[in-house]
Amino acid sequence: MVDWGFLIRMLEGFGFHHVLIKWIKELVTTTSYSVMINGEQRGFFKGERGIRQGDPLSPYLFTLIMEGFSMIFKRCIQEAADFGYHPGCEGEVLPTLSEQPDSVQWVDVYGKPGSFSVSCAYASFDGVHQVVPWSKFVWFSGHIPKHAFCLWIACYKRHPTQDRMMNWKHDPPDWKCGLCGVCMDSHNHLFFECQFSSSVWNQIRINVDWMSAPSKWDDMLDLLATIPMRAFQFKQKLALAATVYALWRERNRRVFTDEKRNENRLIKEIMEDVLMRMAWKKLKKDTHQPDVDS
Ligand SMILES: [Zn+2]
Repeated sequence: MVDWGFLIRMLEGFGFHHVLIKWIKELVTTTSYSVMINGEQRGFFKGERGIRQGDPLSPYLFTLIMEGFSMIFKRCIQEAADFGYHPGCEGEVLPTLSEQPDSVQWVDVYGKPGSFSVSCAYASFDGVHQVVPWSKFVWFSGHIPKHAFCLWIACYKRHPTQDRMMNWKHDPPDWKCGLCGVCMDSHNHLFFECQFSSSVWNQIRINVDWMSAPSKWDDMLDLLATIPMRAFQFKQKLALAATVYALWRERNRRVFTDEKRNENRLIKEIMEDVLMRMAWKKLKKDTHQPDVDS
């Protein structure tokens, strides 16, 4: 609540004419209030402090009050010998309370202050991590999100394959790979040691001119960690992610349903995804649209 005496002294201090000050004093000191009780207005009582709510003059009076408050605030800081800024705010100019819009300052994990943003806050909470060498092979410009996510998990070898699930069960069943039925599945088996997977991957490698591509998952991870990104063509990056996605999906389809698709059907679907994405990328380039998903 605004003290009227302080308001009058502020007006005098700013040099307003004494007649105007008298009018304003008359205006603010004649406030009276009534209270609504159960929807009915009951009585009036005089205000002792405050300025009129809804009065067009009130924001200006409030601004003058805040200006005075800011000056008091700054003087207190100058006179206080033990005052210290937060480490991240050193060098910041103390804003005048009435003229600066509200803002939140954020000090990132490196101790650098800046404006608050959700991404900056997320990065601070997430911490500092070493970037895995194959990150750009997964999240390249033009990637297909669901394929990239599946490939990302596969690079970490975190899909719930049968060899991992064995460790979670006390009495594991006698599992067999849903694609070939020969042995238990694992990341190395599914990508691409399995006879079914190998057949699909071999044809995809031919289709995207990538015959040198490894056929073992550990070799593939080594390759992605050592060869620069620019050495790979767009269609090859798309093809690897699409193949991993299609094989993992087919594996799950066979585990959880009675449906099956043969190698040729999978190859056709993978190539359709790759060619569609390439056409989309070309269209974007021709129309000069910026990438939004890179
Ligand atoms: Zn298999």
